[in-house]
Amino acid sequence: MISTNDIRAQFLQYFESHGHRILPSASLVPQNDPSLLFTNAGMVPFKNVFTGQETLPFKRATTAQKVVRAGGKHNDLDNVGYTARHHTFFEMMGNFSFGDYFKAEVIEFAWTLLTKGFGIPAEKLLVTVYADDHEAASLWKKIAGLSDDKIIPIATSDNFWRMGDTGPCGPSSEIFYDHGPSVAGGPPGSPDEDGDRFVEIWNLVFMQFFEEGEGKRTNLPHPSIDTGMGLERFAAVMQGKKDNYDTDTIRALIEASADLLKQDADGRFKTSHRVVADHLRSTAFLISDGVLPSREGRGYVLRRIMRRAMRHLHLMGAKEPVFYRLLPALIQQMGHAYPELNQHKALITETMKGEEERFSALLGRGMALLEDEMGRLSSNGHLPGDVAFKLYDTFGFPLDLTQDVLRERGHKVDEAGFESAMAEQRQRARAAWVGSGDSAVETVWFDARDRFGSTEFLGYVSEAADAQV
Ligand code: ATP
Ligand code: MG
Ligand code: MG
Ligand code: MG
Repeated sequence: MISTNDIRAQFLQYFESHGHRILPSASLVPQNDPSLLFTNAGMVPFKNVFTGQETLPFKRATTAQKVVRAGGKHNDLDNVGYTARHHTFFEMMGNFSFGDYFKAEVIEFAWTLLTKGFGIPAEKLLVTVYADDHEAASLWKKIAGLSDDKIIPIATSDNFWRMGDTGPCGPSSEIFYDHGPSVAGGPPGSPDEDGDRFVEIWNLVFMQFFEEGEGKRTNLPHPSIDTGMGLERFAAVMQGKKDNYDTDTIRALIEASADLLKQDADGRFKTSHRVVADHLRSTAFLISDGVLPSREGRGYVLRRIMRRAMRHLHLMGAKEPVFYRLLPALIQQMGHAYPELNQHKALITETMKGEEERFSALLGRGMALLEDEMGRLSSNGHLPGDVAFKLYDTFGFPLDLTQDVLRERGHKVDEAGFESAMAEQRQRARAAWVGSGDSAVETVWFDARDRFGSTEFLGYVSEAADAQV
């Protein structure tokens, strides 16, 4: 059985042998785009190259890029633990052509690597193309020999990629693997496409236009290629698993969690172990890229991820900080490919431990309150907004943490009530300041806070500038 680490290496070597420069993963904190929360695709570090603002001394590159999708346009946080194929942190493998090769070559590369390099039976694969992109459809037919029923035209924006309101854009083509009829789910484009049977493993983007704005589009003189393959999904295919969480790397983390908590990996806490394994990766990688848990922006997203993991650990019986004790298992799995984990081991450990110490007393008390309140709800009942606010304000429960707990019991939060409790508290705080006769400085601060929202302020999130692949 080929390991995830070996799949990563084989992917990079294949493209290197076809003239691509292997580059290390860029940081999870985008260096070229303050509007973006986290690096959420392999192409993010190359945005300025695709727009022509920046040139590189080579025209082909390949990477394994660290990616986090827990905010902004791509938010897979609520899928984690529930689907077989979503993580908040994952690795996106990619090959890029900066005005060099185009559609025919990238289809050839992808098909050859999948079927010859990795030996995947052709009949297990199918593709989608943008409905208008007849060129791509005929190339798939010619190069891969796919029959018409395996080339599915999709007319929605799912198969048309854009960098933003203006800039490079173009049709895309997604490659799917069929896990077989024992798994629920329909083919792409069908009503039950959200199941786990047909899994999207690789997305090819053909950047052939430049969007000038107001619908005006011109042909790019030198079209480019951007691709993204989910390493964990592909590892599942290669390891004969139907679930990403059963692949070597992630399974090892689940087992570490099971050992630490002394709770069966596949027993009643199966979902908790999955969430913990996923959140361990996003937590450790975000901290190693310099994000620290805090009250706003990127740091607040990290805090929300960490507290969700801690809630599951608490559910499994943890009475003291334990999350940080899973770090060695992660380093064992991924430390070779990502030396930054070892390099920042002390910082990651201290940050995880500190955050857990800060939260654990509140967590226990907050959970007791929430349990009590839930006991009073009728089925489908909504938790009153002021209770959710008290959990937030007094016990440090981010709203999404409360929602995550409620979801397991089929309940929801009265969100409007939560918002108004929040607004009221803001008003009170402002009144207290005004009463203190303080300078204009505080007024400015309060105005800014009102404008940008509370600690839920995610900062830097612009949908338009968000990348799809
Ligand atoms: P999906 O439709 O399954 O949500 P996507 O179209 O949003 O995937 P892309 O933006 O095309 O994903 O990303 C490129 C590849 O990254 C996908 O083909 C998939 O293999 C992988 N991928 C995307 N999201 C996740 C995730 N949350 N966890 C693991 N792998 C992912
Ligand atoms: Mg998605
Ligand atoms: Mg998709
Ligand atoms: Mg896609």
